[in-house]
Amino acid sequence: MSSAYYLTKAGHQVTIIEQSDLKDGCSFGNAGMIVPSHLIPLAAPGMISKGIRWMFNSTSPFYVKPRISGDLIKWGYHFYRNSTKEHVAKAAPALKEISLLSKAMYQQLAKELPFDFGYHERGLLMLYQTKETEHEEVETAALANKHGIEAHVISSEEVQKLEPEVEVRARGGVYFPGDAHITPQSFVNQLMTFLKEKSVKFQTNTTVQDFIIEAGKIKTVQTDKGDFSFDEVVLATGSWSGMLAAKLDLSLPMQAGKGYSFTIPNMLKNVRVPSIFLEARVAVTPMGNSLRFGGTMEITGVDHSISMNRVKGIVDSIPRYYPEMKVTMPKTEEIWHGLRPCSPDGLPYIGRSQKIKNLVLATGHSMMGLSLGPGTGKLVSELIDQEKTSISIDAFVPERF
Ligand SMILES: Cc1cc2nc3c(=O)[nH]c(=O)nc-3n(C[C@H](O)[C@H](O)[C@H](O)COP(=O)(O)OP(=O)(O)OC[C@H]3O[C@@H](n4cnc5c(N)ncnc54)[C@H](O)[C@@H]3O)c2cc1C
Repeated sequence: MSSAYYLTKAGHQVTIIEQSDLKDGCSFGNAGMIVPSHLIPLAAPGMISKGIRWMFNSTSPFYVKPRISGDLIKWGYHFYRNSTKEHVAKAAPALKEISLLSKAMYQQLAKELPFDFGYHERGLLMLYQTKETEHEEVETAALANKHGIEAHVISSEEVQKLEPEVEVRARGGVYFPGDAHITPQSFVNQLMTFLKEKSVKFQTNTTVQDFIIEAGKIKTVQTDKGDFSFDEVVLATGSWSGMLAAKLDLSLPMQAGKGYSFTIPNMLKNVRVPSIFLEARVAVTPMGNSLRFGGTMEITGVDHSISMNRVKGIVDSIPRYYPEMKVTMPKTEEIWHGLRPCSPDGLPYIGRSQKIKNLVLATGHSMMGLSLGPGTGKLVSELIDQEKTSISIDAFVPERF
């Protein structure tokens, strides 16, 4: 939808082909954080050993479902190869550039769109309770400051000052004042209505099944509702992108990283600053007078089952950080889940295909798809119009694996 927005603005006629009815999806119930603070990609030193430790605890925030799958093995191999200091050093500046571009786009959207989507610039608070996590987070803060992203290491008293209404239990925290947040479902739903008014065609309940290629170009997009032809095609199909790319003979390693959220309405005393419980890997975001908790990363393939144990892991973490907050286990119907499109190096795939001339890819944003959406949409529009892109996209070349 971000791509559709900028393409429409540039004067193009856009059709979105979508397999669902667009009442839900990964961009609706997420934590809504816009995170220039997140300079370290998912593939980073220490992630594999941490992941293995977490694998054996059913309430832990990370799980890989062991299964015999060529795609998973390939993805795991590339994840392993990229979990290095060198990769982080290369990825951090690229993530910074796209994050800052996307935040600037959000600032502009908050002014130019005729609706409110809960955009606030209150920063992000990373909370830690152990010495080990403090050490890691202080290093992250130093890396951020080195790259020009403001980060302050603050004491537990300073953390509490940022949260006047809710008692916080933490050894300390790192505060990133440059982060922001929105209410994602409000953004996506209203953007959809806006785009419809601007004549974007929504071809919903329609699944893309295959493509006909002629002279190095996509001539036909084949769906279960018939064939379509376009001058340009943007592949932005999230966790399903690897499977669709394979139909085009492109290698786009992708795994779905399932996460859960639940939202508590009508908070009498609410959290002010979006926060992450670092040891528990739980994200907390105030959205009006509601409070959303989100977390877990389950690499289980495209699978929509809900693991109540992992949701319990999120619920159990709340009183450890907010001792006065009493949250009971949500009912199944109150639990939202989404499939994050995870590339193995933690960087998105953005760019024009080298092999198929009228194909642009915009996917694989893992944990940052909401944050990087508008920036990506802007880049897609520039690529289609063959303009110089706002930032370098060399690190995001889609055919890198
Ligand atoms: C618990 C949780 C918390 C998160 N918190 C944040 C956060 O705070 N900040 C942040 O930046 N990100 C966050 N994320 C990540 C973010 O939600 C995702 O990165 C983002 O939503 C991905 O968007 P997308 O458009 O790439 O993919 P999707 O939203 O999955 O969209 C892809 C669409 O393609 C459609 N599709 C797939 N295959 C086909 C086909 N063959 N034919 C037609 N249609 C097809 C799908 O139905 C889907 O609607 C979070 C995710 C989770 C799970």
